[in-house]
Amino acid sequence: MTRVLRVDLTKMRSLTEEMDPLTCERYIGGLGIGARILYDEVAPGISWDDTANHLIFSAGPMNGTIISGSGSFTIVTKGCLTGGATSSQANGYFGAFLRLSGFDAAVLTGAAEDWTYLYIHDGKAELRDARRLVGKDTRVTETLIKEELGGRERDLSVFCIGPAGENLAKFASVVGDGGHVAAHNGVGAVMGSKKLKAVVAARGTGVIEVKEPERLKALNQKMLAISKAETKEYEQGTSFLFAVHIHHGVIPVRNLTTNEFPDYRKLTGEYYRSHFDLTPHPCWRCPLKHCHEIKVTEGPYAGTVADEPEYESFASWGPLIGQEDPGAAIMLSDTVDRLGLDTNEAGWLMAMVMECYEKGILTDSDTDGLKMTWGNVEAAKAMLHKIAGREGLGDILAEGVMRASQKIGKGASELGVYVKKGQAPRSHDHRARWLEILDTATSDCGTIAVGPQRHQEPLSPRCVVETLLKKRVRTFVDSLVVCMFPSATMLNNRTDYLVEMLNLIKGWHYTENDALTTGLRIDNLLRAFNIRHGLTPDLEAPSSRYGSAQVDGPVKAGSVLQHWDSMLAEYYKGMGWDITTGKPLPETLKSLGLDDVAGDLWPESAPGGPSAGKGRDR
Ligand code: SF4
Repeated sequence: MTRVLRVDLTKMRSLTEEMDPLTCERYIGGLGIGARILYDEVAPGISWDDTANHLIFSAGPMNGTIISGSGSFTIVTKGCLTGGATSSQANGYFGAFLRLSGFDAAVLTGAAEDWTYLYIHDGKAELRDARRLVGKDTRVTETLIKEELGGRERDLSVFCIGPAGENLAKFASVVGDGGHVAAHNGVGAVMGSKKLKAVVAARGTGVIEVKEPERLKALNQKMLAISKAETKEYEQGTSFLFAVHIHHGVIPVRNLTTNEFPDYRKLTGEYYRSHFDLTPHPCWRCPLKHCHEIKVTEGPYAGTVADEPEYESFASWGPLIGQEDPGAAIMLSDTVDRLGLDTNEAGWLMAMVMECYEKGILTDSDTDGLKMTWGNVEAAKAMLHKIAGREGLGDILAEGVMRASQKIGKGASELGVYVKKGQAPRSHDHRARWLEILDTATSDCGTIAVGPQRHQEPLSPRCVVETLLKKRVRTFVDSLVVCMFPSATMLNNRTDYLVEMLNLIKGWHYTENDALTTGLRIDNLLRAFNIRHGLTPDLEAPSSRYGSAQVDGPVKAGSVLQHWDSMLAEYYKGMGWDITTGKPLPETLKSLGLDDVAGDLWPESAPGGPSAGKGRDR
């Protein structure tokens, strides 16, 4: 039985409800359950900061079991950069602890009168005073809450916002478990709008029912063997990608003004893991050598202790802003995490500010004297604090790349890297990998939907569209809510063992085909939500810089923009969506069992007109 904790922050009350089994089977958990609740309960016209917006912390059926990396969870809400649906996943322990404390999801509505945090334990929810935590960074907040509630270090999972979320910076994140981040589309700002500083789950003493535990254990070992083979390179951290990407033109350098970055080697794990001090901090049941705390031991930032950044953070705070010192990149990554900002959006923003400054679009009088030249690490750090506090230029920059570039004017929006829905991409130069531009622009969950995929022709419009249409297992995996590394689902699209694991846990008879149908059902539900909340095809396009041609580097990729309209139309057609509006066609929705949604999007096609919302088959 799926148990949902409902918390009304306005009334400071909570209740528990059980979700009907049919809904659970059709939407699984995590992203799927969150998407269904969001669609049913957040009506068009409700803005991201409306008290009626929902903030959903959602786990899935695997969380808290012996499956490796099953401590993850996802936050589903109406996000503030795109104004559309968002799903942002974080690894760590929270997903396991939430379930062991008696709940599969926590749905937060309303807004507290003053700063509050939610403590979930023993099948109960407590709303506690968080006023003393205001202004504290995410690391300090986590420590103070653990001190207040007592117990051992790993008895609590704390996910919180920093100053950026409190001040409603539109790319504020939610950070917890010592450096895991739900980053995308301003989930931290939504949390801040509810005056909710943190959500805490106790380790809990509950038991997760598994129908066939011994077979699950054996299958987990098999899955780990596959993932270890696939993720061998990750033994050097995800920043091993610099050594690969340098040959493919996908390292983002100086706001995409160049693709030359010869001094990348110190940013790879091969260098810094052998020079700096590392202490492992793995997630729930994960044996992979991936997450570490890192202490910088050389250079101007020696002594900095931080969560080891992922590739995207190293890219943001290295080549993207024009500097190559790994200690500086680690310090800036840590600053972003402590303030509670998304490292991707923040990196693109800082790079745009630096290009604007170098070109005279921004001057010292705009930056309060900060010299925003390429590679100025201390100026970048100071500007991050201004953004989190919405001080001076930081107030404009806190709106994210697209809106900030429009407000700065003087041609800045020609320099901004974003999709026209309102968010920046991940910190890669997708111009040499068009699949990820199309994926980012058309994603219905506020970030990339499919992610990097092996395919042979990165600059072929036909191949790009075909690959994106074929590789749609991510939504299913994000509804199970397991980490992509131990589940080997980042590059590998097989779902056979995950489906078998689901059946061993639930006693279901799911097939791989069911998994794909479920993924498509959820994708179409998210798309329907976004259409009803204002999504139009003109917003599904890269900005001129994001879609521009590369000027140098190993690939010198041409501009995707010349193919964009036809690629988008082909993609819509392949998805069974109307090619002029991007709306899922009635027959597409009905084939997925979404008749109610078809009635909402195409009222003329429904016998009884648009459906009435809650109470229908979900
Ligand atoms: S691979 Fe890394 S992020 Fe994923 S579960 Fe393991 S330690 Fe956590």
